Amino acid sequence: QTTKPKKHVAVLSNPGMGHIIPLFELAKRLVVFNHDIHVSFLVINTDEDNSAARDQYLFSTALPPSLDVVNIPPVKVSDVVRDDMLILTRICVIVEESLKSLKLVLIELGKPEALVIDLFCTGAFEICSELSIPVYSFSTPSTAFLTFSLYFPTLDREVEGEFIDLPEPISIPGCSPVRPDDLLDQVRDRKNEQYKWFFLHMSRLPLAAGILVNTWEDFEPVPLKAIREHSFFLQLPTPPVYPVGPLIKQDEPLSSSDEECLTWLDNQPADSVLFIALGSGGTLTTEQLLEMAWGLEMSKQKFIWVLRKPDDADASSTFFNVGSDVNDPNSYLPEGFLEKTRGVGLVVKSWATQVAILRHQSTGGFLSHCGWNSTMESITHGVPIIAWPLYAEQKMNAAILTEEIMVAMKPVKGPGETVVKREEISRVVRLLMESEEGEIIRSRVKKLRDSARIAVDNGGSSYNSLSCLVEKWKNESSKP
Ligand code: UDP
Repeated sequence: QTTKPKKHVAVLSNPGMGHIIPLFELAKRLVVFNHDIHVSFLVINTDEDNSAARDQYLFSTALPPSLDVVNIPPVKVSDVVRDDMLILTRICVIVEESLKSLKLVLIELGKPEALVIDLFCTGAFEICSELSIPVYSFSTPSTAFLTFSLYFPTLDREVEGEFIDLPEPISIPGCSPVRPDDLLDQVRDRKNEQYKWFFLHMSRLPLAAGILVNTWEDFEPVPLKAIREHSFFLQLPTPPVYPVGPLIKQDEPLSSSDEECLTWLDNQPADSVLFIALGSGGTLTTEQLLEMAWGLEMSKQKFIWVLRKPDDADASSTFFNVGSDVNDPNSYLPEGFLEKTRGVGLVVKSWATQVAILRHQSTGGFLSHCGWNSTMESITHGVPIIAWPLYAEQKMNAAILTEEIMVAMKPVKGPGETVVKREEISRVVRLLMESEEGEIIRSRVKKLRDSARIAVDNGGSSYNSLSCLVEKWKNESSKP
């Protein structure tokens, strides 16, 4: 008796850690979820890769059977990247160069039955159409961001001048309007190259056979309904959406500083510790870091702070060297801070195993830049948020979390101030950690945690959505 060959699906991420993580978790979930599926996870490499956190995550744990990590031939960064390129442009030119090898890679892999791509890898559509491989997009940010992106080509056509100068919030069919102040960085300057890249990739979204989203039905019902009910494009129908989340990092190897954090957390009361981390790339300015330090000290709350060297020019300065930045907190923390907070707070250099900390019962708050993975991880572990958006679409996420889903509080800058002052930081930290208002938010997040678990469990909405997709892949074959 011959066994049926497994269906082969390839998954392709852009090089950003916040994209690799949910796509890799999707790859893992697929092979565990259905034993008839084999996944090749394609990794875009460069000759300048220097990310300890990425290598640790992708290459140092045992993979489930039927999942292979496949390196695409590396891109020579100096061939395509210029120093003045902003983050999305850098990502897009590296991806574009890397995709020159994609056709051969897919042929060598024996032509997978489907390819799942990141939002910024849409160059794969043309290559895969030559190979008759259906391509699915995976939107790693929120569904609210996805609706904005789907509608973006229309906005581009209709809006005159800069979006950020609009006097009113921007209307998206069936969704909450977006305040110009909360717009993502990529659309704030129409003359910048990253605007053109964003436009290009978003206008290709209707070419996808389907769009997977890292969310679940009960968490973002309004934008999901909007995508299903409204036609966002003039000539092309919106592809079907598959909410398959929350897909979050599972167990990871712990470093010695992680072990130290977890042991320290073991000795703290439940929900008493604030965790502070700003994603893979986030950094504060020198002045803001100073205010943050003294604000935390003033709040008298327990904390674990993932610290990076401040950067006055770029709020995403560790994006391309995640977990490998040169970092000596003694050289930039204010004098006396470590002594004054000894026993009350822990500082961790560069990178911590965030999910393990959020999962710990002593963690009761998360000061986060509101990247979508961090948001999913916080909610899945029932931890309320202090929103500290920095770049990309994080301001949009912060607005949703504070005003719509109401699981976050947001400190504000005083009039004319360039940083959030220590008094305000201390006020919001105490409000979240010790007030009745904080307790209300905490119990709201805990309800959402339960709803997230139900969604991904056997028979839940995200589980069913993924099953539906897998069945589709099993029933359709690209091979002649
Ligand atoms: N992360 C981590 N340790 C850190 C900082 C970040 O494990 O010290 C992980 C975090 O758990 C999340 C990802 O990095 O999975 C960051 O993704 P997110 O979408 O939140 O933000 P981005 O890095 O894309 O800005």
